[in-house]
Amino acid sequence: MAQAGSGQLDPLSAVGRPGEPGAACTPSRALAELHAGNHRFVTGTPRHPNQDADHRAAVADGQHPFAVIVGCSDSRLAAEIIFDRGLGDLFVVRTAGHTVGPEVLGSVEYAVTVLGTPLVVVLGHDSCGAVQAAKAAAGTGSEPAGNLRAVVDAVVPSLHRAAERGVQGIDEIVDIHIACTVEAMLDRSPVLAAEVEAGRCAVVGMSYRLSAGGVRTVAAVPAAMAADATPAPAAA
Ligand SMILES: [Zn+2]
Repeated sequence: MAQAGSGQLDPLSAVGRPGEPGAACTPSRALAELHAGNHRFVTGTPRHPNQDADHRAAVADGQHPFAVIVGCSDSRLAAEIIFDRGLGDLFVVRTAGHTVGPEVLGSVEYAVTVLGTPLVVVLGHDSCGAVQAAKAAAGTGSEPAGNLRAVVDAVVPSLHRAAERGVQGIDEIVDIHIACTVEAMLDRSPVLAAEVEAGRCAVVGMSYRLSAGGVRTVAAVPAAMAADATPAPAAA
């Protein structure tokens, strides 16, 4: 039996038993759990759920993560920490600047179609080095060395979108890049788009603040998911 740090049964552990379909978790429920965990992290009251030996053994035979996190690789953006979750909860794919190539999309499609994960989150953050590098490269006309160029090239369309809107601040550009990444994933993955169209999955873009530790929704498909869920109240 998985116990949360507070001694209360973790609700997602209760529905996501190993070896059983994770259909009990909806996109809205998954989003609310992420916001609740982030609220605990921000306020310094983390429960560190699902990180104990019992839970480790319980999920060894199967996984039903309730959210996919496509995040920037930045060392300060560790998904399980900032959302206060544990083993088996989050399916995490990270690249610099949350750029999405075929391997990333294939990983997301695996989680959504095979594992039944109902929510995909694109997680960016303020002062993102990948976005800054792309902006610097565009400004000087220089090309980054090696494979870093692939990262910069993947951010360039977001810079164009920002320029069209007259946006110049790096953090506002980051928000646009997060929204563009949500769009790009759905454009390039008909599999993911079909899951969203069928109502089995949602894609939400979030921006994280490095200092404060909070997340803010900047894009969502379907759009109704854009309204930030209020943190789940403490269990009675
Ligand atoms: Zn970054």
